[in-house]
Amino acid sequence: MLLASGALVGAAAMMVHLGQTLDLGKFGLGSGRQSVVVVMSRDGGLIFGGDDDARTRTSSSLANRGLSQVQLAKFRGSDRQWSRLVRCVRDRYAQYDVQIVEQPPAVGDYVLAMVGGPPRQLELEKTVGGLAPHNGSVISDAVVFVFQTRGSKVSELCQTTAHEIGHTLGLDHTRLCSDIMSYERCGPKRFRDQHARCGEWSDRDCDVGDSHQNSEQLIAQAVGYRRDPDRTPRRRPLALARR
Ligand SMILES: [Zn+2]
Repeated sequence: MLLASGALVGAAAMMVHLGQTLDLGKFGLGSGRQSVVVVMSRDGGLIFGGDDDARTRTSSSLANRGLSQVQLAKFRGSDRQWSRLVRCVRDRYAQYDVQIVEQPPAVGDYVLAMVGGPPRQLELEKTVGGLAPHNGSVISDAVVFVFQTRGSKVSELCQTTAHEIGHTLGLDHTRLCSDIMSYERCGPKRFRDQHARCGEWSDRDCDVGDSHQNSEQLIAQAVGYRRDPDRTPRRRPLALARR
């Protein structure tokens, strides 16, 4: 997932990631630290254009492209591949207060990550890997798209998914090639704890006005670190405890 040409066009920013991603900006919602739930869906189906609202499957990205609705294709792959993908995305967000799940929570906001189908279903170039709204702060009810083309590897889909979710947490693109928010490739990517210039293929200021972005710290600032409810304190064996 890489961008070949990126352009930030005013407030309604539109960034074209050749090789993977296109992001349409949306300003004015949300800020401050908050837990975020992300529902990954492989089921495809109807998505509507409008203000972002994952629960009603409504997407500002579609609206910004002048699309009133789109019938998305399902993820093409085995259960095992899907499980690998979900695990991989969870791993990328493991330390943050971001829950990656497959079923919508009964109440509350969530980000909906639709995985499947080619970019042409959103009338995008075949080199576009994903699409997400982005406004420099958390958009907790966003709909993001991760496109799947013939030959898409789970590792690539994982990277694209993590990248697009990153935009909904307020992240811009960086020039640090090992950072998930970078278009460029130089091996495995993570959210890096390093100050990097923003930009796609050349340096620019970040869209929130800063000269640099530290992706790791920015996510931590936006959502905080995970307080793992599954991590129970280690106990000594009962036999020892009784002594
Ligand atoms: Zn992007």
